[in-house]
Amino acid sequence: MNRPEFLNVLDGDALPFAPADDVCVGEIVSPALLECAPGLALHEAARRMSERGVSSILVVEDDAVVGIWTERDALAVNFADPAAFMLPVRAVMSTPVRTVPMSTRLHELTLRFREEHLRHYLVVDAEGRRVGIVSQSDVVLNQGIEHYLKLRKVDSLVKGGLHALAPQAGLGEAARRMREGGLDAVVVDFGRAEAASAAGRYGILTERDITRLVASRAAERAVSELAKRPLIACKEDDSLYRVRALLAERHIRHVGVIGGDGELCDLISFKDILSGMELAYVHELQHALRERDLALSSSQRSLYLAEKVIESSLEGVMVTDTEARIVSVNPAFSHLTGYRADEVIGRNPSLLSSGRQSPEFYARMWAELSETGQWQGEVWNRRKSGEVYPQLLHITAIRDRDGQLTHYAALFTDISRLKENEARIRDLAYYDPLTGLPNRRLLEDRLQVELAHAARMRSRLAVMFVDLDRFKRINDSLGHEVGDRLLVEIASRLRASLREDDTVARMGGDEFLVILSNLQGPDEAAVTARRLVSALRRPVVIEGRELVVTTSVGISIYPDDSLDAQTLIKNADIAMYRAKDEGRNSFQLYEPAMNARSLEHLALETALHRALPRSELQLYFQPLVEAGAGSLVAAEALLRWQHPDLGLVSPADFIPLAEETGLIVPIGEWVLRSACEYHCSWRETGRPPLRMMVNISARQFRDEGFVAMVGSVLADTGMPPESLTLELTESMLMEGTDRAIARLEQLRALGVGLAIDDFGTGYSSLAYLKRFPIDELKIDRLFVRGIDRNPRDAALVAAIVSLGHSLGLRVVAEGVETRAHLEVLRGQGCDLAQGFHFSRPLPWTAFVAAFGAGD
Ligand code: C2E
Ligand code: CA
Ligand code: CA
Repeated sequence: MNRPEFLNVLDGDALPFAPADDVCVGEIVSPALLECAPGLALHEAARRMSERGVSSILVVEDDAVVGIWTERDALAVNFADPAAFMLPVRAVMSTPVRTVPMSTRLHELTLRFREEHLRHYLVVDAEGRRVGIVSQSDVVLNQGIEHYLKLRKVDSLVKGGLHALAPQAGLGEAARRMREGGLDAVVVDFGRAEAASAAGRYGILTERDITRLVASRAAERAVSELAKRPLIACKEDDSLYRVRALLAERHIRHVGVIGGDGELCDLISFKDILSGMELAYVHELQHALRERDLALSSSQRSLYLAEKVIESSLEGVMVTDTEARIVSVNPAFSHLTGYRADEVIGRNPSLLSSGRQSPEFYARMWAELSETGQWQGEVWNRRKSGEVYPQLLHITAIRDRDGQLTHYAALFTDISRLKENEARIRDLAYYDPLTGLPNRRLLEDRLQVELAHAARMRSRLAVMFVDLDRFKRINDSLGHEVGDRLLVEIASRLRASLREDDTVARMGGDEFLVILSNLQGPDEAAVTARRLVSALRRPVVIEGRELVVTTSVGISIYPDDSLDAQTLIKNADIAMYRAKDEGRNSFQLYEPAMNARSLEHLALETALHRALPRSELQLYFQPLVEAGAGSLVAAEALLRWQHPDLGLVSPADFIPLAEETGLIVPIGEWVLRSACEYHCSWRETGRPPLRMMVNISARQFRDEGFVAMVGSVLADTGMPPESLTLELTESMLMEGTDRAIARLEQLRALGVGLAIDDFGTGYSSLAYLKRFPIDELKIDRLFVRGIDRNPRDAALVAAIVSLGHSLGLRVVAEGVETRAHLEVLRGQGCDLAQGFHFSRPLPWTAFVAAFGAGD
């Protein structure tokens, strides 16, 4: 048996169009709201519209909307009368202005546009505040209709009967033609002799042009002077998708259509695409219904045949009596709902209901049924298994020969697969199947939209290129499956670390792109980047294996770095590579000057102010051991900041900021005091002697009260001065040498030890050291790193050691990471060693547990 056309339509993948149910007007409304007072002269209103490129202006008085004047209304201006331009908008505006709430669904709005023949609505929020104007074009641009548009050809919209204006026709005539024909543009025919191509022969004049002419108070003149040429045109067999792209690309709203004969046959617009879409949808459904009605009526001729049809139908069929009790169902019904006939006969169909539809929905359904004898629509019902699914339901009231209502017949199809397919088609085109994130295409679309928005709002926007470090290695060594799962986890962390309106997309491989909109400044992007980097750094557990991946992030900022999407992406990419060069696990801004700025300002400043009172600062301790014997000699106190959002912030990142803001003074005092207090608890329990090393920053050292502060901390905590060594850097001593020497002498007088930190990275010569009253040199880990492989490094360290010794200084090697390092240092006679080889910096209790026993 032939299946009715209806089923083919629904089974196939070519449902005419899927309303974008989930999009509401609030999401697409353009917030460029142009308003004016009622007394404003018409030409001035038109000028403002042209300037802003908007198609309407709201007339507002005492904060109430009293009317709207649109490009459409511009057609009614009498160009022959100069006084017309001077009229106040009040005299010509349309009123009242229809409003729609932000929550209105796009497809509802599509219908309203058609039903009310309006072209603009004022969108208001829940409090009734004006949010923006939504036009038909906005709707067309935002429907989820890609595949519909690809399937339809231009010729499905062509009405034919194009009436072109002669070039000598007047402006008034053009406006009248548009007004009367319900057109928003007219074509001007310059004649075949004038141009080589079909399109070149024609020009176009639109409502928007007319508005501009009102703005310039143009006098009546021939359209030949005004029409834009050549008319941009498409071919009859182009897809609507292409046309939409053409319209968007050229910023136009109309295109000519060239027919098979090479002649211009029509002019189509956005509005036509919109109504074409609606019509197609309605047509398909009507067609489907007609087919089914035919099947029904023929079946009435023969009961036997009817039963057969019903029985073998793939549609669920349910017949109820007038009291809505189920009297019969077909096998497809049981198949679709999960209920056997004997389970439902005699019962009310509400047992199938999912509860998703409101009582008002059913009230409307019944009203329509009793009025027209028919109802059809989509409903959500529940299978016996509890699963909720969408069905396309058609209900017909059945009457006997006398017109008495006897039964209702309900026919339905499960359209969940259809819906899934549609969703999948949408997703495939725009989403990355692995992570479910938007893909490159959608990202590029969104970036365009966000850029336009940022331009309007004069706000900043950041594009961030996020690239996992060494992902390839994980993929190669642990397999693609692990790699995939890692990417999924990374995607969800990215999503979770961003605001709702930010976009994150997967560009392919291990590359992600993020758009941050509405930024106040580059600092804000830096804060987010930092948050991302630390969120991604948290270990991921896959199949019991703990993976740590780090990321590098590059950031470019609109409008600072570029105005266009491609360049912004490219610059973010360049910045990302720079982040990799800087040692990965970090971020970089494209504009290097911004890096410095952002680090300083990173909003960290405020947070840093609160760090001390909120006890977010902590000290870690790293042992210094005797290079030969390996016994514990000292501990260096290293500051840690446990930021509530950013996690552990490295001292290298916040100490410069603390210095700049002067916060280092109280923080430094806290460090010194805490270190001395810990030392006190160390002494009390009778452990081996331990020297405490505390880092001092330049700003602290310069502070007038510094020496006094050290003295009072020593006194308050009962710290033996000889157990405390302050670490200073070369550069601190190089500026204002005499004053520095004086200060060092004062510290010496207190009895504390002094060490030069990071030795070798500053500019001083060893000769200088003689002038400073110091005890110890700490060789920077940069030199230690290569001593076991690089003879130059080894020679350098050997030289520092022997020179240090000749000046009577103890020499400490920092950054000792391996046994090989230690071996070389021992051979060179280095006194003390510090580094991961012995221990990483540890919290105090861990430090005590590891080294407190004495050995
Ligand atoms: P620094 O004074 O040179 O401290 C040694 C740094 O080297 C520490 O980094 C330590 O964790 C790291 N390190 C230790 N052993 C190894 C190793 O074997 N290999 C490698 N690659 N690194 C090792 P940290 O804790 O991140 O501190 C960074 C810098 O922040 C310090 O460098 C110091 O300049 C500053 N800083 C830390 N705490 C304070 C403080 O309380 N006050 C001041 N003013 N500055 C501090
Ligand atoms: Ca140090
Ligand atoms: Ca150091």
